[in-house]
Amino acid sequence: MKAKPKIKSGRIINVGISSCLTGRKVRFDADHKRCRYATDVLGEYFHFIPVCPEFEVGMGVPREAVSLIEDIENPRMIGNKTGADWTKRMNRYTKRRVRQADISTLSGFILKDNSPSCGMERVKVFAKPGTAEKKGRGLFARTLMDKFPDLPITSEGSLDNHPHRENFIVRVFAYQRLQELFAQPFNRRRMVEFHTRHKYLLLAHNPQYYRRMEQLVGAIDKETPAWFRKKYRALMMQTLKYLSTVRKNVHVLQHISRSLMKQATEMEKKDIHQAISTYHKGQTPLVVPQTLIKYFANKYEVTYIRDQIYLNPHPKELMLRNHV
Ligand code: SF4
Repeated sequence: MKAKPKIKSGRIINVGISSCLTGRKVRFDADHKRCRYATDVLGEYFHFIPVCPEFEVGMGVPREAVSLIEDIENPRMIGNKTGADWTKRMNRYTKRRVRQADISTLSGFILKDNSPSCGMERVKVFAKPGTAEKKGRGLFARTLMDKFPDLPITSEGSLDNHPHRENFIVRVFAYQRLQELFAQPFNRRRMVEFHTRHKYLLLAHNPQYYRRMEQLVGAIDKETPAWFRKKYRALMMQTLKYLSTVRKNVHVLQHISRSLMKQATEMEKKDIHQAISTYHKGQTPLVVPQTLIKYFANKYEVTYIRDQIYLNPHPKELMLRNHV
């Protein structure tokens, strides 16, 4: 069995995945839908926990294909040829499955598109025979998303889209850091430090939401630890769901670079401005100004900047910020 992959910090990051995306032949036609980016790239950093709801509920392989019918919000799952009704069994299974211990360790989930069990959005629901509306959600996906509203979840199709791919990976790492923090006894100083290290990452996703998080952290003494954690996690994950853009990154980079201006030489200041400007014009990737800023933060021991997650949100080997 493949060892659980650990990133450099020694963390093990558990991520759920629709089983067929790992290459397991569990689909209705006894085939798979391997997602190479997941297995070959992300598999180096994440320990995948495969779930196939249709196989685990006892439909067998190969099996009759199923569809969702009638109510978009609360559809029935019916066999395409025999009309066998799997709704109750599947709903019972999904409720039980999401309560199992391995699911509570997850920092993310990659779901198969368009599946009546796993699809997270735009799944066909046949309100009447022959009239499909692509507005549904698979039965397993719905239960998972209801039970873990803050969990980073994506579809395999979104992994083909670079900004969405990076956004998902940033959220998985952030969620995992939160889980690690929340596994320790509540400590206000540690919580504030955690928030401080995430400042620029959060700003690069949504400055308005960041300000709401600031208010929340400002009131940390007034709240119970349980309430605060729940609220903080929800707000942080909502903030990170917004895509970071060139404009937001430029704003953040300019903000950070001002903290280095006291120590930097005239030549170094020029280099930093130049790096931000070429990134702004789309001539260099984000990693260029970030690496330069990190270098000067180390050189001048500006720890507040050096320790920012924004400068190191995921392993550099994933090369998510190396594109223009
Ligand atoms: S989409 Fe989901 S239910 Fe269908 S084969 Fe893949 S893992 Fe199983």
